[in-house]
Amino acid sequence: MTNRDLRDLVRTLRYMRVVVLTGAGCSTESGIPDYRGEETRRRARNPITFQEFVRDPQSRQRYWARSAVGWPKLRQARPNPAHDAIARLEADGPCIGVITQNVDRLHHEAGSREVVELHGALAEVRCLGCGEREGRQQLQGRLHALNPGFEQTADELAPDGDAVVDPESIASFTVPVCLQCGGELKPDVVFFGENVPADVVDRAWDLIDRAEALLVVGSSLAVYSGFRFVKRAAERRLPVAIVNRGPTRGDEFAWVKVDGQAGTVLPAAADILCQ
Ligand code: NAD
Repeated sequence: MTNRDLRDLVRTLRYMRVVVLTGAGCSTESGIPDYRGEETRRRARNPITFQEFVRDPQSRQRYWARSAVGWPKLRQARPNPAHDAIARLEADGPCIGVITQNVDRLHHEAGSREVVELHGALAEVRCLGCGEREGRQQLQGRLHALNPGFEQTADELAPDGDAVVDPESIASFTVPVCLQCGGELKPDVVFFGENVPADVVDRAWDLIDRAEALLVVGSSLAVYSGFRFVKRAAERRLPVAIVNRGPTRGDEFAWVKVDGQAGTVLPAAADILCQ
């Protein structure tokens, strides 16, 4: 980031009501990998789809076994300077809210108050039958009680908060069911092939409608559910600023693009914008 980058970024956002749209790149400095960053793009990944999860008991078994191992590591992740700066921009600066594509709850932990979790949060689990919710941490206790001895350490966390697990051990993994109705449980996140709930999208549109500028942080914008907000902002001729390492699908709409680390650029911008 050059001084000029920072000056242009601050000029674009100053005296505006700013909505911040964040993606996986905002959390990589907390130790959670992204999908399409330079390091992760090389690794082949096949995220589970909603259809697989619902139709195939083996897919659910594989998901929960990997999640049982990955969850403790995801839960340990702490907000990084980018999350802290975004919370500061809301408390003392121009930010009116955050739309996040992340499922890690780190914006809340950093103190952001107006947060739309577009793709839900891994911290909660929902019954596909009766809709009852359960905290993911409570479920972790049940996962262990049902699968004594299933203690594998996650050396590599995957972007979905799961982890690589020996395929042979998965076959004997017992999947917990809903405590209320015995139905199947699903993490309360939007899987590939699933739509974002209408009330969540409405809250996000409401923020965009009230915004005077949009700041994108750490997202390739490859996923349409995030990209559409950039398109709407551009249609409304709102200034769009992007802070991302590498190219994004929204670059052509950006008034200012800073190619840099979110954890460096955001604190520097917040220092000026929150004066
Ligand atoms: P993405 O992986 O498509 O893009 C991330 C972008 O951030 C990349 O361009 C990468 O180069 C950039 N980046 C990485 N580290 C950065 C840093 N420190 N500073 C600045 N830029 C950085 O992610 P996306 O656009 O959010 O789309 C992926 C989807 O996957 C989302 O819908 C999200 O739900 C999900 N996801 C969530 C998490 C999470 O909750 N932390 C993690 C991975 C994926």
